[in-house]
Amino acid sequence: MSEDNHNHTLIRETFLPYGQQWIDDEDIAEVVGVLKGEFITQGPKITEFEQKVASYVGAKYAVAFCNGTAALHGACFAAGIKPGDEVITTPITFIASSNCVLYEGGTPVFVDINPDTYNIDPDQITASITDRTKAIIAVDFTGQPVEMDRIQMIARDHGLITIQDAAHSLGALYGGRKVGTLADMTMFSFHPVKHITTGEGGVIVTDNEEYYEKLLLFRSHGMTKDPDKMINNDGPWYYEMHELGYNYRMTDLQAALGCSQMHKLDGFVKRRQEIAQQYSEAFLKFEGLVIPKQHQEAESSWHLYMLRWQPENFTVDRKVIFEALRAENIGVHVHYIPVYLQPYYQQLGYEKGLCPQAEQYYNTAITLPLFPRMTDQDVIDVIQAVQRVYERFQLL
Ligand SMILES: *Cc1c(COP(=O)(O)O)cnc(C)c1O
Repeated sequence: MSEDNHNHTLIRETFLPYGQQWIDDEDIAEVVGVLKGEFITQGPKITEFEQKVASYVGAKYAVAFCNGTAALHGACFAAGIKPGDEVITTPITFIASSNCVLYEGGTPVFVDINPDTYNIDPDQITASITDRTKAIIAVDFTGQPVEMDRIQMIARDHGLITIQDAAHSLGALYGGRKVGTLADMTMFSFHPVKHITTGEGGVIVTDNEEYYEKLLLFRSHGMTKDPDKMINNDGPWYYEMHELGYNYRMTDLQAALGCSQMHKLDGFVKRRQEIAQQYSEAFLKFEGLVIPKQHQEAESSWHLYMLRWQPENFTVDRKVIFEALRAENIGVHVHYIPVYLQPYYQQLGYEKGLCPQAEQYYNTAITLPLFPRMTDQDVIDVIQAVQRVYERFQLL
């Protein structure tokens, strides 16, 4: 009885999610300001937000979208992906990283991950390049930048366009440079679990003027109102559609929230780094737990913290461990199911076993909660829950 009680009080009373936004009164005041003003969409806040993001990462241009997936779709359009074109990407990512290729009629080609960084393995890219390969979509999984220097070199050698899916890595560095100018185009997402939020939102940053112009068209019906760019011109009311675009615009409400959140970004990243370091220090000594390894050139902005449980060290499988952590009120998750194992991709003809490292990774990984608003006690709760579950299922 007393033993039971003792154990019970150790468990958190409230559920700790794996990720969550941090919005304060200042953010709310910014959004209210827009609501009380003249423009709630297609107004000046969009450009202000785009300039803030571009200048933060050191890029020339930024184009904001209603979400990160739409932004990736825009990047595939700007890259000229067409039916029959192949685009190389990683299986360990959110489905949006390869769905954007399908939207334009292209074919995603999955290249296996490096088992240490969990990012696409540059050593395996060249073997997957064919006459039809048009682009590489590299993903900075967990916030650790991919080896973009090596990927750019391969891309240059084969005339490929590079798109960096940096949904996880706003604020991260590679070789001392901020993610955002390492690839031809870079996407950031502002979903609430990401580094800063606009509710829903995304952006493409680029130094290339041609891509920039295409992204602007694509975001708004493929339509221009610029008289200098028109083929015909019937008068001052005239607008002209040149491409098949979409309505993928961000609102000024979202952009206002984004502007306000940008001021806090560095603080958010710092807190994420602190928590990740505390986890790694705590789990380093546990045999059978694999803490995330970092590439020497990479400084992660830590969107996710992945802990791997080596099956040979435990009496139960990952699912039982996962459920035990959930029973402790720790909102663990698994990122990600290899994209090509999704039924939709299976029906397209991708087969199980395509990327063995990715599949092995998937079977052993558990995502721990990580977001800036976690308190020191939250971090301790996670560490203690992991320790209890570890001790319960450790194979002695
Ligand atoms: C979040 C995310 C996206 C898509 O962003 P949304 O804003 O949710 O559409 C794309 N790729 C990765 C890796 C992501 O994590």
